[in-house]
Amino acid sequence: MMPLHTESCVTLAGLVQRGELSAVEVTRYFLDRATRANPALGAFLYIDAEGALAQAATLDAQRASGVALGALAGVPVALKDNLCTRGVPTTCASRILEGYVPPYDAHVVEALRSAGAVVIGKTNMDEFAMGSSNENSAYFPARNPWNTAYVPGGSSGGAASATASSLVMGALGSDTGGSVRQPGAFCGVVALKPTYGRVSRYGLIAFASSLDQIGPFARNTRDAARFLGVISGHDARDATSATREVEDYESACGEDLRGLRIGLVQESVAQGCDSQVAKGLLEAIEILKRKGCTITDVSLPHAKYAVAVYYLVATAEASSNLARFDGMRYGLRVNAEDLPSTYENSRGQGFGPEVKRRIMLGTYALSAGYYDAFYLKAQKIRTLIRQDYHHAFEQCDLVLTPTSPAPAFRFNERVDDPLAMYLEDIFTLPPSLAGLAAMNVPCGFTREGMPLGMQLCGPAFSERTILRAAHAYEQEAGWHLQHPKELI
Ligand code: GLN
Repeated sequence: MMPLHTESCVTLAGLVQRGELSAVEVTRYFLDRATRANPALGAFLYIDAEGALAQAATLDAQRASGVALGALAGVPVALKDNLCTRGVPTTCASRILEGYVPPYDAHVVEALRSAGAVVIGKTNMDEFAMGSSNENSAYFPARNPWNTAYVPGGSSGGAASATASSLVMGALGSDTGGSVRQPGAFCGVVALKPTYGRVSRYGLIAFASSLDQIGPFARNTRDAARFLGVISGHDARDATSATREVEDYESACGEDLRGLRIGLVQESVAQGCDSQVAKGLLEAIEILKRKGCTITDVSLPHAKYAVAVYYLVATAEASSNLARFDGMRYGLRVNAEDLPSTYENSRGQGFGPEVKRRIMLGTYALSAGYYDAFYLKAQKIRTLIRQDYHHAFEQCDLVLTPTSPAPAFRFNERVDDPLAMYLEDIFTLPPSLAGLAAMNVPCGFTREGMPLGMQLCGPAFSERTILRAAHAYEQEAGWHLQHPKELI
């Protein structure tokens, strides 16, 4: 059979829609790739061969009976393991959810399935989406397909790794403070965090509810646009879901960039950013200029507080959200002689060290006497960061920064220093705190052959503008045509 994994989703869906390929053939092809590569990559926590083949057979039967298939007909996808899947284990890469099988699908899973996407499996992540390297998975780490000695980023590292190595055509992750964009940068794939409220969080296991948002990984911008169109839209089951109409994202791919104003955050290049990351960004700016963009300097004076603000707000919300894991209702229970000890044992043995650290930090920040000094203060600075963007967007349409201050690092390089790990998030946190749309766009490679990424951020609901800029840049730069060496 022709090599399918180098196609785009758009092409593959077309072949299946027209009956030139059966969904079962496509599914077998990708299940085979995923199964063979997973021992080296650790991208999947669970491969659902049976479920995927059953879904594909249903699609083929529908087509045979004359039903027109959806926009992702037969497209193999992967889902981060914090997205609930009916009948398929969902663990958040935590021991505390070991053996948990949700009775329902998340909104995005329903949406993907009804568009004809075939779910190949559930991807590895940092436990409860807390981390930037995948080293916090309770099971095994996912690895970077460009070089397996390097981390894939986090927390959606498995989803990024599976997409970059073409084990699937795309994947969904969750992004609370960068967990879609940063692994996207480390693995060299397109990775979009939509505006807060654009995509329903129903069925996403909550980390920090005021920040969490689900977003797609894809190997090119047009595919990402297609995924976004499928998963976006109002859903009454998420109280923060936006009622705003979903735009035609795909048609933005191909529009020209004349007159588009890009704001460059000078501080981001000047301060503590790796020289290869800065070089990649500056070269990308030259391409954007050639495509007709104007580049202006903008400033986000409060963005430097984003790490402190985020690690208060997100831990506070996490301490509350994770209270539900008490050993009674889901997953692991470690029985003891009385109820309090059963709670203690279950949580003590069920959660890993980073999750415990966050629960303790968050509980402390919310405790009486400290609330005003920490949590309330953080909320106020969050508003100032939002206002910084408001001012910046008076001068430009999109704000450009690196996605991450440095490219992918090697395993074990940062595990002993949680603060250094938190600083990884300096550029992805401000858009999250402001609830904005932001995307990683691959922009080259380091001398060591590891991917570089830049972040395009726009106002709320500017996904179309972001995709337009990303697509025009991508077509000119051509980085999406490079693939990691096959591991299988
Ligand atoms: N790296 C950040 C953290 O550890 C972001 C995580 C995320 O977006 N889920 O919290």
